[in-house]
Amino acid sequence: MTSPHICPKCTDYRELSSRTVSGDDATLTFEVCGGCRGVWLGWDELGAAKALRDLLGLVPTAASFERDQLAGVCPDCDPARELARLPVGAFAIDRCPECEGLWFDGGELGPMLTEQGFDALMHTLRTNP
Ligand SMILES: [Zn+2]
Ligand SMILES: [Zn+2]
Repeated sequence: MTSPHICPKCTDYRELSSRTVSGDDATLTFEVCGGCRGVWLGWDELGAAKALRDLLGLVPTAASFERDQLAGVCPDCDPARELARLPVGAFAIDRCPECEGLWFDGGELGPMLTEQGFDALMHTLRTNP
């Protein structure tokens, strides 16, 4: 029994819920926060996320600048690891230095999975080992 993952950005203790989406070419399991709509994803799942972009049901809202500025703690690592902020375009994604999991605040993931956004995201990940 693993303990539930907790949203790194919500201050009112929200558990992340797991979702699986399947398409013709890929299957993706990710976790989403019901409060802020943030998404937790393994870095090696980004390709599947891009392939399944239209099926993910991403909220079409703009990312929250306030939430983007918050520091967060990895939902997956024990002992707790603080997420590192990596600027991509107008926002910053959060990456765990230990497990390399990625956190996208609500509204951030959609723009990152467009052709242009994905290129910028991959460039950032490659140049920040
Ligand atoms: Zn949240
Ligand atoms: Zn971690």
